[in-house]
Amino acid sequence: MAHPSDSPEIQDQDAKQALEKLKKTFESFSRPIDLILFAYPAEDNPFTQAIRQVIRAFRQITDKIAFREFSLDHELARKYNVAYSPTLVVAPERYQIHWIGAPMGEEGRTFLEMLMLVGRGDSGLSQQSRTVIARIAEPRDVKVFVSPSCPYCPQEAVNALRAAVEAPDRIRLEIIDIQCQPEIADEYEAHSVPQAFANDVQIGLGAQSEEVFCASLLKLEPQTIFIPESDAELVETDVVIVGGGPAGLTAGIYTVRSGLKTAVIEREALGGQVATTPVVENYPGFTQVGGKTLVDILVTHALEYVQIFQGEEVVDITPGEPIVVQTSRRKFKTRTVILATGASHRQLGAPGEKRLAGRGVSYCATCDGPLFRGRRTIVVGGGDSAVTEALFLQNMGVEVTIVHRRDRLRAQAHLVKNLEDAGIPVIWDSEVEEILGRDRVTAVRLVNRKSGEKQELAVDGVFVSIGYVPTVGLAEKIGVALGEDGYIARDARHRTTVAGIYSAGDVEGGYKQIVTAAGQGAEAAMSVFEDLVNPYWKREG
Ligand SMILES: Cc1cc2nc3c(=O)[nH]c(=O)nc-3n(C[C@H](O)[C@H](O)[C@H](O)COP(=O)(O)OP(=O)(O)OC[C@H]3O[C@@H](n4cnc5c(N)ncnc54)[C@H](O)[C@@H]3O)c2cc1C
Repeated sequence: MAHPSDSPEIQDQDAKQALEKLKKTFESFSRPIDLILFAYPAEDNPFTQAIRQVIRAFRQITDKIAFREFSLDHELARKYNVAYSPTLVVAPERYQIHWIGAPMGEEGRTFLEMLMLVGRGDSGLSQQSRTVIARIAEPRDVKVFVSPSCPYCPQEAVNALRAAVEAPDRIRLEIIDIQCQPEIADEYEAHSVPQAFANDVQIGLGAQSEEVFCASLLKLEPQTIFIPESDAELVETDVVIVGGGPAGLTAGIYTVRSGLKTAVIEREALGGQVATTPVVENYPGFTQVGGKTLVDILVTHALEYVQIFQGEEVVDITPGEPIVVQTSRRKFKTRTVILATGASHRQLGAPGEKRLAGRGVSYCATCDGPLFRGRRTIVVGGGDSAVTEALFLQNMGVEVTIVHRRDRLRAQAHLVKNLEDAGIPVIWDSEVEEILGRDRVTAVRLVNRKSGEKQELAVDGVFVSIGYVPTVGLAEKIGVALGEDGYIARDARHRTTVAGIYSAGDVEGGYKQIVTAAGQGAEAAMSVFEDLVNPYWKREG
């Protein structure tokens, strides 16, 4: 039976309500936002057209946006140091924010967030982050490279926007769409997104939590962890769920529906691995659905129930009664924890891989594919993900060859057929021995596992798709036992070896599918509920 909220009338009503809310938010802004677009006037550039359209749409709902457009050779362009078409200069009387390109796809979210931050004139940074930004004494010239198809990009771009709003005197920001201006990305050797630079030094590769971004901006080098100096904020819950993938989000829906106060904590993009999956064809109810669309549906549903703390990383957990969960921003005191930390991509381990990560070596075709249009790439791997990514890249206009270590693919039959139909070549029985290039990937050296023969293949990009390893660092740190296979050991009710700590999803091993992760999330949540009513650790103790 269809859910009542599926009806067109209710959807229409929801859209109207959202629009009214947006109008009210704009009305609350104390000053108009001055947007100045610089572009070549007669230019038939899709990015220029798109940005004009977006601004026109916003101006139809609010008079709080003032808009002017000038040619790139206008003296104002020189005044604001604008060199690329199109560039949007945002509220230049107060801030130093330039948007190079257009807010398309995922970047639409960033654009709306930017208008909110600038309109309110408040960065919305956490107290921890404000303290870090206050320590930055010298100016910072920040560049964040993004692409419309990258689900991780809005997080990094919004981090930088918050910093630019927090310290407008010291922080100048350019958000650069790599599809619109690939040559700037080339100049910075930024061949994956998001990437952040400050004063021409790379400070972030991938999406960072807000506090880690601010610390990296202060130190002018990428930081990996941020532990707050004080107990700035303390939240008490019944359940903390670590991970906002399908397992964690489903668990959140179930625990809240059982009446348990719950927090879901996600350090990167909500949806986990699904956020970067081009197409899903085996999730019940959908013949075919884009990974990002499925994530939107899942997240919208979860948000009906559960509070989600996104962009926050769980850095430590101290078991006990209560269990204390330390994130990069605050502390949670909780009765139980569900570890739904999923899995992350496996690395090749070949020389050159680490050094050239983000400079031609990529683990996310959806994010970085646009940078390789018309260029030569290989996808390393032979499973479903490798084949899906190769098909996705070819569809985008990327020249792609699969390199596989065996003589047949492990992918599902219909994917293999699609690959054959698309005419994507496969180099069989071969491994990548080394990834070559000084500042960016220029070639790979392959070795044939049967004949021992070596060959050098000139390529611009290497997409690594050789499977996933469970994200168990946190579990290990707190003494949760792992099985021989390296996944979390748990009983039939998803209880780990540490009292009050449960697991769900890919981190437990098994089939590693969206539907199984969601199922495990539901099961773990129901176990938590039953155990909180009648704690097994007290019964057994
Ligand atoms: C390219 C690709 C294609 C796929 N295609 C399909 C498909 O077609 N069909 C299908 O069924 N499955 C598919 N899968 C597999 C499916 O996406 C996974 O099985 C599923 O996402 C697992 O869900 P999960 O919630 O267990 O983990 P994940 O999706 O991995 O989510 C875990 C989340 O936990 C977060 N996290 C980890 N540590 C911390 C921490 N310390 N603090 C805060 N957050 C943390 C991570 O950032 C992540 O977002 C595909 C996977 C990939 C990569």
